[in-house]
Amino acid sequence: MSSSRLALYEQQPGSSSRFDIDNLIDERYRALQDAKQARNLWPTWWKGHLRVGKVYAVLNDHEKAINSFERALALAPTNNEIQKALYESRQILGRQLRLEHLESKLSPRSIPEQLNELQRNLGLDPEEVRMTYRLLEEIDPSIADVIKGHQYEHGDIDVKQDYEQAAKYFAKAANQGNAEGMYNLARLTDRGLGVKKDHNLAQGLLEQAAAQPPQHPLLEELPNNGVALAEHALGLRHAEGVVVHKNLLRAAYWYQRAVNHGCSEAANNLAIMYEDEPAPIVDRKLRLRDSHRIEVISKHREWESHRNNLDHSVISGAHKPRVKQQTPKSLIGLKSITLREMNPTRDHIYSGYVLSATIIDAAHAWTPSIHLVIEDENLDCEQMCIYGFPEEQGEYLTSKVYTIGSKMNIINPYLRIGASDMKPFIRIDDFSSILVQSESERVINMCRCCGEPNAPYACSKCKQARYCSKECQTMDWQLYKHKLICKN
Ligand SMILES: [Zn+2]
Ligand SMILES: [Zn+2]
Repeated sequence: MSSSRLALYEQQPGSSSRFDIDNLIDERYRALQDAKQARNLWPTWWKGHLRVGKVYAVLNDHEKAINSFERALALAPTNNEIQKALYESRQILGRQLRLEHLESKLSPRSIPEQLNELQRNLGLDPEEVRMTYRLLEEIDPSIADVIKGHQYEHGDIDVKQDYEQAAKYFAKAANQGNAEGMYNLARLTDRGLGVKKDHNLAQGLLEQAAAQPPQHPLLEELPNNGVALAEHALGLRHAEGVVVHKNLLRAAYWYQRAVNHGCSEAANNLAIMYEDEPAPIVDRKLRLRDSHRIEVISKHREWESHRNNLDHSVISGAHKPRVKQQTPKSLIGLKSITLREMNPTRDHIYSGYVLSATIIDAAHAWTPSIHLVIEDENLDCEQMCIYGFPEEQGEYLTSKVYTIGSKMNIINPYLRIGASDMKPFIRIDDFSSILVQSESERVINMCRCCGEPNAPYACSKCKQARYCSKECQTMDWQLYKHKLICKN
């Protein structure tokens, strides 16, 4: 009964009418139920698993099909029919996953792909290609292992296709710290090609690859290919909820990193994600007890209350910066960066990068510098000090421009390590490197605690600070020390 039904829809020609499609799906569904029933009646009967696998294969669910074929094969290891079905489903799934993960014309190309293209375009003969391989092997043996892995994965003029050998070479490269080796081993591990299928292990390999330096460690002018590929794959996983929990914010983070490292397909996916889904919602309340946030904001308020009690004439100058932060000549090709991507222990100018931020706390004083607290798109916050503006503009800048809720882009941000307290902050020496966004972008009546816009309540004492709720006001008073700066 069940085998005839399977045969019936396997031979069903393409249908166009709605009725036929419904009917076809219905038939397939019943065939699957029949096959599952056959398998459940006798779970060690390999034909039951084979039949379930075949139905899944026809339904184009090759992951499940492979699972069933593998079970069947475990019960009948020499059966040709199972081996053939398993091989076919693996091939198809491999193609499907490759399409998802690697659009070859858009992704950064691996070294063997670059060499193959050279061979095609320049008519290099296979011997020359082999020579280039040998040359690369001398510079970095792990590159040669990656190349061998690709040769075995797909088969070429020199070697017969063999997933197990491919996995061995990728693993060898990965053990030498090669990001492309890690990425490719992750790919095979994800699909159980040549190695045991293990999604979690694959996840770990991708994270490991993404943590490698973005430029090749020995050939610095070359991108470290596996890094962007792994970042892109991690973006896909978080966007679709594969292996990890679906998290669009994490997806956006990984896509953006992949874009920064030259993967244009990630840019495409990032754009599609924002088009399909509402902007990722970040839980503001969750971050309010972050110890760094509390420290930065309360320190800022302590400083301001201290300043308010001082005679301005006794305030001494600031420490000279170690390096001079400047705005670049051209804005073309700038990449975005967030606070968490900056090393908090390294005094460094991130040249060629833009930090987008919102001012969440400001101060009235402007000598020797304007003190602010900024928050970036991840809701991470940091202290910021602006130097190098004409002193006669101080009043105007602190009261009208650099005020709470104002959004800006900081070009070539300088993460300065404080000379006395060794704490990081963003230092601006060329204030033309701050591009303040238009008034329409400003967050109006921002809650001083959580940052929500249109906060309805004002502090009854100072009438300045706005709050969205009683909880926020209490938290701001105690935890963030609003009490230090609140006065009528
Ligand atoms: Zn609030
Ligand atoms: Zn107040």
